Amino acid sequence: MIPDRSPQIPDEGDVPAPRRMFLREPGWRVGHKLGSEREFCYMMAPGQDYYHRLLDGEVYVHHGDERLCLACAERRGLLAYQPRGLGRAGSPAGLVIEYDPSAGDSGPGVIELDQ
Ligand SMILES: [Zn+2]
Repeated sequence: MIPDRSPQIPDEGDVPAPRRMFLREPGWRVGHKLGSEREFCYMMAPGQDYYHRLLDGEVYVHHGDERLCLACAERRGLLAYQPRGLGRAGSPAGLVIEYDPSAGDSGPGVIELDQ
């Protein structure tokens, strides 16, 4: 008899979809925590009254001595999920003025707009 085991992965809540991440705050850099040396995130997570450790292998951001895990960096607004300038189309179609100074008739500085 074959045990009826469901291959389904247990639901661990909402897993965020993979997305690209941008760090554009001046002076902030991305670091990679390796080893078991004790280093702490400089922000407390909501509901915690202690500073949590950065864990072996964790990616974090740092600015001088200040280190933040990505969760705290996001809470602090350091991370963005859209490239700079997205959503802003190029400049609106500008008014093109054709001016031929050799055209003669009109006096200097007079521009005729041909519609
Ligand atoms: Zn943190």
